[in-house]
Amino acid sequence: MGTFDVLVRGARVVGPDSVTRADIGILDGRIAAVGTELVGGAGTEFDASGLHVFPGVVDPHVHLNDPGRTDWEGLATGTAAFAAGGGTCFFDMPLNASPPTIDGASFDLKVAAARGVALVDFCLWGGLVPGSLDRLDELAGRGVIGFKAFMCNTGIDDFERADDQTLFEGMERAAQLGLPVAVHAENEAITQELAARAQAHGRHAMGDYLASRPVAAELDAVALAIAIAEETGCSLHLVHLSTAAAVLRVDDARARGVDVTCETCPHYLLLTDEDAERIGALAKCSPPLRPRAEVEALWLELLAGTVPIVASDHSPSPPELKQGEDAVSIWGGISGCQTLRSSLLAVSDRRGVSLAAVASLTATAACERFGLSAKGRLEPGFDADLALVDLRHESVLAADDLLYRHPHSAFVGAPLRGRVVQTLLRGQVVIRDGVVAAGPRHGRLITRG
Ligand code: ZN
Repeated sequence: MGTFDVLVRGARVVGPDSVTRADIGILDGRIAAVGTELVGGAGTEFDASGLHVFPGVVDPHVHLNDPGRTDWEGLATGTAAFAAGGGTCFFDMPLNASPPTIDGASFDLKVAAARGVALVDFCLWGGLVPGSLDRLDELAGRGVIGFKAFMCNTGIDDFERADDQTLFEGMERAAQLGLPVAVHAENEAITQELAARAQAHGRHAMGDYLASRPVAAELDAVALAIAIAEETGCSLHLVHLSTAAAVLRVDDARARGVDVTCETCPHYLLLTDEDAERIGALAKCSPPLRPRAEVEALWLELLAGTVPIVASDHSPSPPELKQGEDAVSIWGGISGCQTLRSSLLAVSDRRGVSLAAVASLTATAACERFGLSAKGRLEPGFDADLALVDLRHESVLAADDLLYRHPHSAFVGAPLRGRVVQTLLRGQVVIRDGVVAAGPRHGRLITRG
């Protein structure tokens, strides 16, 4: 018996502002104390000297497709992979589960699917789709973190894009409910027309796909979403922005008082259109990978602090869906939740991003934005969600390292930094040396506040 259940000794503790050498004492699943040479014993002590302790990754944009499409991913494999990358809380998108999370019954099905299966904690996005306006209240009552809408085609039959009227009325209702709306912002008319023309002329190469989703399509949709947020008072989050120009529109709106934020993804920071051509369908995503100049401009925004959140948009699929010659119609989506933080760490020194900033981008900022008051910081009172990381370890991602249902990713072959030695969820070890630790899976639904 001791003062703590768990004591992590001598680590470099990565906070959102600085890195300090300290011990972390854990009691009843929460951080009870952080300080040098904490006195009082513990049931379990880890010597973490030489390691960094980060807050567990909080990824606000993940598709685990459970229930109903577990042949694509699933909560068992998806959360194991995420935790192996230091993840402790993810926000699951309403698609591509089947049924999608668009009402109370489908919400309950997803929570039931996670019980005893999810290795980490999770929040659920509810869907904002045509005809679902009268379901937003019941989703809010169940505890969704917010609502997700697509302004362009989703590629999934049971999750329709929100037409402008649905988006307007949905954001009005979300504002009344006090919940944010997350929007995939690409103009439907532009992207559909360009894709249809490419198809009609037999142009199916990756370059034709990239050309069918121009920067203007993102900018136009971002502008409309912001205008609706401004008029309705809805809290707006633009997911996976791929261009600095779009980020600047968000920043301009925020400067004049609109409640709007954005995220980008590792693939928009680390891969280019040339990588899409080289890698092929595994690197197909929407918005698409951009030219080098766009990538560099996006980095400048990240460094300036105008992109506060980096999310994975982990969007897995079976390998069969990533094969074939028709890049325009092949399934889009990149698997990346396992490598979210380690792929950023691989370039953080070179890019001038501090470890503290990496912690904020991959945990703290999302918790603050979406009201997770007990997660995202290594401070007393917060959940003991920790990733113990050996930053001396550098590697190149191999498919064999991936714990996804289907171990493929556009990041195979990419540099990574930081071996996750342990991941702790509310004080319990869930990953030890890269594999799932024995014991029950006790990931639970987290709601705002
Ligand atoms: Zn997504």
